[in-house]
Amino acid sequence: MQVNLYNTLTKQKANFVPLSGNEVRIYSCGPTVYSYAHIGNFRAYIFMDNLRRMLEYNGYKLKHVMNITDVGHLESDSDEGEDKMVKAAKKENKTPYEIAKFYTDIFFDDMNKLNIERPEIIAKATEHIDDMLEFAKKIVENGYGYETSTAIYFDVSKLDKYPVLSNRNIDDQIAGARVNVDPEKRNPYDFAIWIKAPQNHIMKWNSPWGLSYPGWHLECSAMSKKYLGEVFDIHTGGVDHIPTHHENEIAQSKGAFGKIPAKTWMHVEFLQVDGGKMSKSLGNVYTISQLQEKGIEPLAYKLFCYTAHYRTKLNFTFDGAMASQKALNRLREAYIKHKYGNETIEKNLLEEYKTKFIEAINDDLNMPLAMSIVWEVAKGEIKSNKIAELLTDFDKVLGLDLQNSEKYIENQKKLELPEEILELLEQRKKAREEKNWNLSDELREKLKQKGYNVKDTKEGMTIEII
Ligand code: AMP
Ligand code: ZN
Repeated sequence: MQVNLYNTLTKQKANFVPLSGNEVRIYSCGPTVYSYAHIGNFRAYIFMDNLRRMLEYNGYKLKHVMNITDVGHLESDSDEGEDKMVKAAKKENKTPYEIAKFYTDIFFDDMNKLNIERPEIIAKATEHIDDMLEFAKKIVENGYGYETSTAIYFDVSKLDKYPVLSNRNIDDQIAGARVNVDPEKRNPYDFAIWIKAPQNHIMKWNSPWGLSYPGWHLECSAMSKKYLGEVFDIHTGGVDHIPTHHENEIAQSKGAFGKIPAKTWMHVEFLQVDGGKMSKSLGNVYTISQLQEKGIEPLAYKLFCYTAHYRTKLNFTFDGAMASQKALNRLREAYIKHKYGNETIEKNLLEEYKTKFIEAINDDLNMPLAMSIVWEVAKGEIKSNKIAELLTDFDKVLGLDLQNSEKYIENQKKLELPEEILELLEQRKKAREEKNWNLSDELREKLKQKGYNVKDTKEGMTIEII
């Protein structure tokens, strides 16, 4: 079935066809590992996971690269401030490499908790300095770069068109640009591809321009070229990448090879918190672990992300996330009921559901629509293990680990119930095994007095808080 994707470059949704046979080559801008990734960042990686899984579901093979930025990302995207890694290293009294390792490990732990598939290639910036240097030299050789006392800049005026991704008007930008940034820049929107290291700067390498380090935009250009070639299929990132980072990646590839590096550019909208920006100063930047501390599972957060299309803003509230936790529990319970069901369901109906599901995901990843189909299937009156199989099939795209539903529900019950209640339940379980129905009823009554309603069903025992 046809896959349609929205392309920021053309501002249109179009039929997606890979450049080379059945393989899709993707590059995703990854984290800058100077601090904990927050739930906003993970919205971007959940989107990336959906894209991967949808393409795989359609039978494509993937070659997907994600970078780890461990050098060169300055505090502002437009060449201002300190390198984020160096700043964090000074603050935490560690080396930048220790900082990078610490936050990269936590990042991948969170990715695992969210059941996000790992891209085939993870590329660390500091391990690709030579590739970046080659790329920078090529830009300069082709006449697009120039040296100042602080950096090697890309001269955007040499391009046929800049910008190409965003709708910004460059003349307005020039008029409104901050003039005091670097007087040696030829044009206000020139950007650094290589930065000369100040005397006691920690991360620096030899280059034709002395001890220096790569600019953040160049990292992605060089690493995508190395693994995916001059032109590949899809480039992903957050909407904040459109005006500067991706615009500059395009400029660099044009400067080096005369080509826009990706055919389709996909951008995920921002997660907001309580209707506004997530920011450290407002104290509303949450990590996956902090959600867990409040009783929200990482997979419930993933489900929460499916309440909005990736191209629309999503507003995070704890009430909303808690509602997704409850919904996930209901989905798991429905899955279990179907798993043990043996009623007959028409094959046609299953095929119809599957077609509707594929139509939704293939239509530029319409996850809210896909979820409405999942619910229709899960809530069906007929309890059949064929439905459970269909739900596990859909889960190849959702990545909610539905097939382990029983394990999650067990764990939750254990987590939620006080020790005293767990003890009474254990005694009751034993009484029932010994067919001591009087004791079992007595214990049920005792639990009821303590606020817990126990029911014995075909699928086992359930407990409700009264
Ligand atoms: P960074 O580590 O800052 O380079 O960001 C990693 C990824 O998270 C990038 O793709 C950003 O565009 C994305 N991102 C940052 N903040 C948010 C947010 N609030 N909502 C969604 N994506 C975000
Ligand atoms: Zn990037």
